Amino acid sequence: MELTADIRKETADVVIIGGGVIGLSIARELARRSVHDVVLIERSQLGGEASSAAAGILAPQVEADHADEFFRFACDSRDMYPEFAAILREETGIDVELDTTGTLYVGFTAHHQEELHRRHQWQTSQGLSVERLSGDEARKLEPKISDRVSCALRFPNDIQVENRRLIAALTRANEKLGVRLLSGCDVSSLAIEREAICAVNTSKGPISTRVVVIAAGAWSSSISCIPRSISIEPVRGQMLCFKPSPQIAQHVIYSSRGYLVPRRDGRLLAGSTSEHAGFEKRVTGEGLKAIKSMAAEIVPTLHELHFVDSWAGFRPRAEDGLPVLGPSEDVRGLFFATGHYRNGILLAPITGKLIADAVVDSAKSPFLSTFSPARFRSVASTAESSFDTFFALP
Ligand SMILES: Cc1cc2nc3c(=O)[nH]c(=O)nc-3n(C[C@H](O)[C@H](O)[C@H](O)COP(=O)(O)OP(=O)(O)OC[C@H]3O[C@@H](n4cnc5c(N)ncnc54)[C@H](O)[C@@H]3O)c2cc1C
Repeated sequence: MELTADIRKETADVVIIGGGVIGLSIARELARRSVHDVVLIERSQLGGEASSAAAGILAPQVEADHADEFFRFACDSRDMYPEFAAILREETGIDVELDTTGTLYVGFTAHHQEELHRRHQWQTSQGLSVERLSGDEARKLEPKISDRVSCALRFPNDIQVENRRLIAALTRANEKLGVRLLSGCDVSSLAIEREAICAVNTSKGPISTRVVVIAAGAWSSSISCIPRSISIEPVRGQMLCFKPSPQIAQHVIYSSRGYLVPRRDGRLLAGSTSEHAGFEKRVTGEGLKAIKSMAAEIVPTLHELHFVDSWAGFRPRAEDGLPVLGPSEDVRGLFFATGHYRNGILLAPITGKLIADAVVDSAKSPFLSTFSPARFRSVASTAESSFDTFFALP
């Protein structure tokens, strides 16, 4: 159900700000746990920002050189995907095209060989699934890759999802569960009284509530009343889309310069860039050139193809590059679910679950301690001075 009517005097049990993959996953989890009155507010179009721009790769192992808390968190979320996708299909009839072919990381030089050797060693020593391949063995799996590929690793458990279908499925699931999806509505500020949330102020009027979840991606720290110590910046990524016929790869294929992602409908995505360009959402000649050159290094025949589409999006990055998850220690009823940076699609199932646990049961997974917003407090001089002026309800 999409609300377009006047929402003055509106109330909600929980308000989620941001309708990307993170906000939608949390809303669905809350509704599945019988929180009946959930409102999700999206400024433009549901899933229309980073969550649509993404490549949908679910690959914590492919670039990891050690096992830390973030690595374990990401692997846990990846391993939730088969059930997540199956239940979403039951709920909505939408197939999110979870593709379990696996991911290849290809190398060209002696330096790459050493790097892949080390990655293979530490991952096998931890009991993780990873296969070491020669260039010829890699070409047996993917005949179109360059003759210059001299070594590869195959990660059978690193997979991919069609993230735009995932957005469609999460949207449909929320509609069916009775979540009120309010798109075309901008949240300007939070209303806080006696250090507790009492409302959100939106372009369509205030909504009274005691619980707010900030899931506004790269814009999360621009909402008034968010503690200034929490700073989320946009990191622009550009993507290219080819349409080779027939499809030229089965695996997601990485090199040290980027990746290729074959989709079931015949599209081949190539990405990406990593740029600090503010909120300038556009593709650039330089960006496209770099991606094309990376793609043709992996599959030389891509040089002959024209791309059919291109786009850009903003990865939400916190100062330390890690997610910001869980309750605020300064404002009762305020929760964060942001800063997912390069991995928001991968981390959607676990984020939905842990935030719903925290909101409904006050349950605190050890992961929420690691990724707590409180870790940034030391950079703010005092809790009080880290807030913008409080807003009273008009
Ligand atoms: C090129 C590219 C490739 C990527 N590839 C991958 C990948 O392969 N795998 C992976 O796991 N991740 C990938 N990512 C990262 C992933 O896309 C993000 O981490 C994820 O989408 C973040 O989701 P989100 O819901 O937090 O943010 P978003 O999808 O950006 O959603 C936030 C929403 O909040 C809304 N909003 C903001 N402010 C307000 C407000 N004041 N009021 C109301 N609404 C508001 C916005 O309009 C937006 O729709 C990629 C990102 C990019 C850019």
